[in-house]
Amino acid sequence: MPELPDVETFKRYLNATSLQQRITDVDVRSGYVLKGVSMDELARRLKGCRFESSRRHGKHLFVRTDGDLWLRLHFGMTGSLQYFKHDEQSPKHARVLFVFANTYRLAFEDQRKFGEVGLLKDVDEFLKKRALGPDALSINLSQFRTIFQERRGAVKTILLNQKLIAGIGNIYADEILFRARIHPATQISALKDKTIAKLFRAMRYILKKAIEAKADADLMPKSWLLARRGKGRKCPRCGRELKSATIGGRTAWFCAQCQKRAR
Ligand SMILES: [Zn+2]
Repeated sequence: MPELPDVETFKRYLNATSLQQRITDVDVRSGYVLKGVSMDELARRLKGCRFESSRRHGKHLFVRTDGDLWLRLHFGMTGSLQYFKHDEQSPKHARVLFVFANTYRLAFEDQRKFGEVGLLKDVDEFLKKRALGPDALSINLSQFRTIFQERRGAVKTILLNQKLIAGIGNIYADEILFRARIHPATQISALKDKTIAKLFRAMRYILKKAIEAKADADLMPKSWLLARRGKGRKCPRCGRELKSATIGGRTAWFCAQCQKRAR
C-alpha cells in the first residue's frame, strides 16, 4: 500500500516525465476511480492544459494545471504511475490515461481500484475538509511532541492516524518503531521525552532513506525489517524470530527482544 515514500517517488517520477506538455486527451478506462468528477468532465477540463507542478501531502498527490485546477491522485492499495509511448506498453490495470501532445501517455494504474482521481480548485481546503494532520516530513520535534502529549493509545496507532500525522502506513510505522526500538503496543503515556525525540528522529531517517531508495525494498538497507516481515523470519539485529500482533486493526511485525515495551 503506497505510503509517504512511495507517493513522493511517484511525485518525482511525474515531475521528471509529465510536466509542461499539452494534454491532448484523457482516456478513462475505469470510471470507478473517479471521485466527484465524471469521465466527460475530467477530459473536458484537462484537454489543452499542461501539468505545471506537483505537491504531496501525506499519501495524497496534487498536480497543478495551467487551467487553474489541481488533479488529485490517491493511490489506495495498489496504485502507481507509468509513463510510456506505445499502446502495447500500457499497463494491464491502467484506469486513467493522460495523453500528451508528444503521444506519450501517463497511466494511473491500480489493480484493486481503491485509488482515487479527482479535480480540485483549492488543495488547502481539501486538506482541511479531510481533517488531515501535517505531513510527516514537515513537522518539527516540538509539534511532534505536542501530538504525543495530547493523546492516549498505542504508539503505533498514533503513527497510523492520518488526522494527527499524514503519510505513515503499516509498513513504515513498523520500520520506524523497529529503528527506535519501541514496542508497537507501548502506550504513549509511558514514553519519556527522550524516547519521543528518538522516535521523531527515527521517523525522519526512515522516511528520507526510503525516498532515497525510491521506495524500492530491494534498495533499502539489509538491516531493515521491511524485507523480513512474515512468519518464521528473523530479526536483522539480534537473530531472534520476529513476532506479530494486531495493533490498531493492522498487523504489526516487531522483535520482542529489541523492542521493549515501556511501562
Ligand atoms: Zn531483535
